[in-house]
Amino acid sequence: MRIKIAAGNWKMNLTYDEGKQLTEEIVNSEIPADVQVILGVPAIALARTACLAEDNSNVHIAAQNCHHIASGAYTGEISIPMLKSIGINHVIIGHSERRELFNESDEFLKLKVDALLEAGLTPIFCCGEPLNVREDGGQNEYVKAQFENSIFHLSGEQFSQLIIAYEPIWAIGTGVTASPQQAQDMHSYLRSLIEEKYNNDIANGISILYGGSVKPNNAEEIFGQTDVDGGLVGGASLKSETFVPIINSFS
Ligand code: PEP
Repeated sequence: MRIKIAAGNWKMNLTYDEGKQLTEEIVNSEIPADVQVILGVPAIALARTACLAEDNSNVHIAAQNCHHIASGAYTGEISIPMLKSIGINHVIIGHSERRELFNESDEFLKLKVDALLEAGLTPIFCCGEPLNVREDGGQNEYVKAQFENSIFHLSGEQFSQLIIAYEPIWAIGTGVTASPQQAQDMHSYLRSLIEEKYNNDIANGISILYGGSVKPNNAEEIFGQTDVDGGLVGGASLKSETFVPIINSFS
């Protein structure tokens, strides 16, 4: 049985008080026992949010980025040992905004994935194609290359530690959601690639999340697809009125 996951990505949003209130509302909501909630919060809120969530075993806190080197002269960066020292176990890696706005390459992301796994943390590895690639029908090859360049060098045991988030760039923050069938087609394709590279057990055991304008009114249908194990949610994760219903959208 794959883990069902509702992950939020706050990006660079919410002040101290806003984030505290949202975390408390989520932690105190009725979370189904078989759903894992992950909150991807800004670096400044990590330690505090981890404390607020520490008594709820269904809620995990994720960093939105990390550096692959353990310490040194990297002004503004956050290392994996630092994250570990405040109890953070998940890190979002390769979000399209990091790739596009901060020039993070597949090769650079590979270093981060390796360092996280080495330290025993879970990378939430984001992948997904831009609009022009989708319009040309090249989405499968595009995402396959992202896998080959950043995560297909891993051993099967390491690969099983990942959470994958398929996020078509054209659907992120645009209000345009991939259709449930488009999400299912890509997730099923990714699972077939994983099976070919590793084996059936690994392909069927890994959680693959969909991200891109997930809202309370479309989450149930998207999460209901055979190969979709939950979502990575941006805008709708910023308010408990929209995120709590998404957490409860698994059948
Ligand atoms: C995201 O930030 O990963 C995302 C999917 O954003 P949104 O839900 O706002 O499209």
